[in-house]
Amino acid sequence: MKRTIEGDTYRHRGMRANMCKELRAMGIKDETVLAAMNEVPRHLFMDPGLDALSYNNQALPIACGQTISRPMTVAYQTELLELQPMMKVLEVGTGSGYQTAVLCELKARVYSVERQKELFSKTKKLLEKLRYNANCFLGDGYNGLAEMDYSPYDRILVTCGASEVPQQLLSKLKIGGLMVIPVGDEHQTMHRILRSGPDSYETSTCGDFQFVPMLKGRQF
Ligand code: SAH
Repeated sequence: MKRTIEGDTYRHRGMRANMCKELRAMGIKDETVLAAMNEVPRHLFMDPGLDALSYNNQALPIACGQTISRPMTVAYQTELLELQPMMKVLEVGTGSGYQTAVLCELKARVYSVERQKELFSKTKKLLEKLRYNANCFLGDGYNGLAEMDYSPYDRILVTCGASEVPQQLLSKLKIGGLMVIPVGDEHQTMHRILRSGPDSYETSTCGDFQFVPMLKGRQF
C-alpha cells in the first residue's frame, strides 16, 4: 500500500516520475532501483528553498558544507549493489538520508553512519518521521562501525570519496558480499569490490565521479 506523505504533492510526484525517466535514458536499467527512487520524496531531504531544483540531476548543498549526491550517482551506486530484500547494508556517510531512504525502500536492513553530529541528528529525525526504518549512528565509518559492530554485512556502500580503500572496512563484508566505494582525491573512480574468499577480493572499476571527501574521526 502506498503511503501518503505530508508535503509530497502531485507536482512533486510528477517531477519524480520525470527524474526516473531521465535516469532510465542515462542508462539505469534496474527497474527496482528506479521504482524505489520514484517513491522517495527527495525534496524533503533538503532545504525547502531548493524545492524547485530537488528533482534535477544535480548535487545540492545540505548542512555542514556537505552535499546530497545527484540522483544519477545514487541510482548508479544502488544499481551496482545488486540488493536483495533483507540484506544487511552498511552505509558510510548518511548525509541528507536520501540514499538511506532509497535503500530502505528496497527493503534492505540499513545501518548508516555519519560523522557530523548536526547531520546525524537532523537526518535521524527526518527518517523516523518518514517512517524509514534505518539504524543511524554518529561516528567514524572509516573502519566500519568500530564501537558498534553489526558486521558482517552483505553490502557496504560508501557515499564519500576515499583516498584509498579502508582495509578494515573491507573485512566487515560477508564472503560473497560487495562493497561500492568511490576512490580518489580530487575525482573518484567507482570501485566495486567482491569479497570472494576469506582473504581474496575482486575489484572492478566503473565511471568517474566527484564526492565530498571521506574524513577520519568524528565531528561534534
Ligand atoms: N548519501 C548522502 C551523501 C552525503 S555526502 C546523501 O546523498 O545525502 C557524504 C557524507 O559522508 C557527508 O555527510 C560526510 O559528513 C560523511 N562522511 C565523510 N567521512 C565520513 C566518515 N569517515 N564516517 C562517516 N561519515 C562520513
